[in-house]
Amino acid sequence: MVEACEEVYSSLHRRFKGDLLRPGEGGYEDARSIWNGMVARTPGLIARCADVSDVQNAVRAASETGILTAVRCGGHSLAGFSTCDGGMVIDLSRMRNVTVDPEACRAWITGGCLLGSIDTATQKAGLVFPSGVVSHTGASGLILGGGTGWLTRRFGLSCDNVEGFTLVTADSSVVRANSRENPDLFWALRGGGGNFGVVTEFEVKLHPLTSVVLAEGLSPEADIRRLLECWRDFMAEAPLDVKWNIDLRLAPHGKRVPVELRGRPVASSSLIWTGDPEAGLPYLERALSMSRPDSVSSKIISFMNLQTMADSDFPPGRRYYTKSGYFTSLDDNTIDRMVAAVATIPSLETQIELAYLGGAAAQIAPNATAFGDRSAPFIMNLLANWSEASADADNISWIRGLFHKLRPAMKPGVYINFMSGDEQDRVPEAYQERWDRMVAVKSHYDPSNFFRLNQNVPPRRLTAKDL
Ligand SMILES: Cc1cc2nc3c(=O)[nH]c(=O)nc-3n(C[C@H](O)[C@H](O)[C@H](O)COP(=O)(O)OP(=O)(O)OC[C@H]3O[C@@H](n4cnc5c(N)ncnc54)[C@H](O)[C@@H]3O)c2cc1C
Repeated sequence: MVEACEEVYSSLHRRFKGDLLRPGEGGYEDARSIWNGMVARTPGLIARCADVSDVQNAVRAASETGILTAVRCGGHSLAGFSTCDGGMVIDLSRMRNVTVDPEACRAWITGGCLLGSIDTATQKAGLVFPSGVVSHTGASGLILGGGTGWLTRRFGLSCDNVEGFTLVTADSSVVRANSRENPDLFWALRGGGGNFGVVTEFEVKLHPLTSVVLAEGLSPEADIRRLLECWRDFMAEAPLDVKWNIDLRLAPHGKRVPVELRGRPVASSSLIWTGDPEAGLPYLERALSMSRPDSVSSKIISFMNLQTMADSDFPPGRRYYTKSGYFTSLDDNTIDRMVAAVATIPSLETQIELAYLGGAAAQIAPNATAFGDRSAPFIMNLLANWSEASADADNISWIRGLFHKLRPAMKPGVYINFMSGDEQDRVPEAYQERWDRMVAVKSHYDPSNFFRLNQNVPPRRLTAKDL
C-alpha cells in the first residue's frame, strides 16, 4: 500500500494544484482526523483538491494503481467512511464555494461545503436550502444520503431540492446528472450516497425564509409516556409548518434546566414553526403543555441561530456510535421500552432522538428518487456520545441492546446517513424495492466498485471475493 501511495503521489505532484499530504508532513495530522473520534485511521496520502481537474487526476491515479480511496467533504460520516488506513483520501475541503442567484431562487454549491457556508450565503438573499441541524456537517454526504432537518416537512429532503449534479465518475470523466442528462444517475444520486462518483457541484432550489418560532421544554420521567402518546397523535394532524423533535436523555446540568431534573431522565422537546408566528402559537402552546412550565421557552429566532444552536452539542473528536430505524406507529410497548432504557443510559450526552417525517418529504412518490422510506413517519436515531475509550463497550452495548429490543416493532428500512460502519448488511434494507435499480446504475458508472467506502451498493459483475 505504501508503494502504491508513493506511485500515486509521483504521478500527481507535478500537476496537482491543491495539497498532497503524507504521514509525517506538516498539516497531515490535522487533515487526518475526522469528526467521530472512534475512527482514527492513517491514510497513506491525503489529496486536498483545489478544483475539478485535481479531483479527476486523483481519481485517475488512484484507479490506475488500485489503491483504496475515500472521499471526504465534512468528515462527519458516523461510520467513518471518509478515511482509510494506508490508502488515499480525496479531501474536498478547499472546494467551498456557494453562488446564489436570488432572482431564480437557485444556488450552486461546490463539493466541499459545510452546511454553515450554504446558510451564510443564502441568508444574504433571505433564502434557505433545507439541510441538517448542525452547521459543521458536510453538505455533500448529507445531501447524497437524503438530508433531513428542521425544514424537511415544509420543503422536503435536501436531495429533493437538488436540480442537478456535476460529478467525477470512476473513469475520471466529468458527468452531469439532471432530469434531462443521465436521468438514471440523477435518480440514484438523490439518496444513493457516495456510490457513483465525486460530486463537485450541486445545483439546488432555494426558498424564502429568515426566521422561525422556536419553542423548547422538558418533560420529567413520569410524563414521558404521556408526552410520546400526545406527540404521535399531534404530529399526524400537524400542518407542514410544524417540526417537533423529541430527545429522550438524561437532562444536562445547564443553568436553564430545573435543578431537580438535572441528570434525571427527561424528554426534551424542540419545536419550530415556519409560518406566521401568531398563527403558530396555539400549536406550540398545546405541544408544550406536556412540559414542566419552568423549563419552557418560546421565541422568534433567526434562521442562522436555528441552524447553529446545536453545534456545540456534537463536537469533533468525541466518540460516537449509532443505530437507527423507522416506525409506522409508536405502540405502547415501544414507548415503554424507550422510557425504561433512558434510566440506564451510560453517558450524559447519549440520547434517543425521535423525529416525525411526513409533510413535503412524504408527498414525493416512493420511487421518484433512490432515497429510502418516505412513508414511515417516525425516525428513531439511537446516538451514543461519550469521551473515554474505556467507556466504548458500555456505550456500544447499550445502543445494540436497545436496538435489538425495539427492532421487532420497527418497519424494515434505515436512513443511510444514520448508520454505523458495522451495518453493511442493512444497505439493501435501506433501498428495498429500489435496490435492483441502484445496482444497475452502480454497475454502469462504477463497475469495479472504485467508490466503495460508503453504504455500499456492489456492482453486478463483482463476486464476494472482489469486495
Ligand atoms: C453532528 C452531526 C449532525 C448531523 N445532523 C444531520 C441532520 O440534521 N440531518 C441529516 O440528514 N443527517 C445528519 N447527520 C448525518 C450526516 O448526514 C452524515 O454523517 C453525512 O454523511 C455527513 O456528510 P459529510 O460530508 O460531513 O461526511 P463525509 O464523512 O465527508 O462523507 C460521508 C460519505 O459521503 C461521501 N462523500 C462525501 N463527499 C462526497 C462528494 N463530494 N461526492 C461523493 N461522495 C461524497 C463519503 O465518501 C462518505 O461515504 C449528522 C451527522 C453529524 C455527525
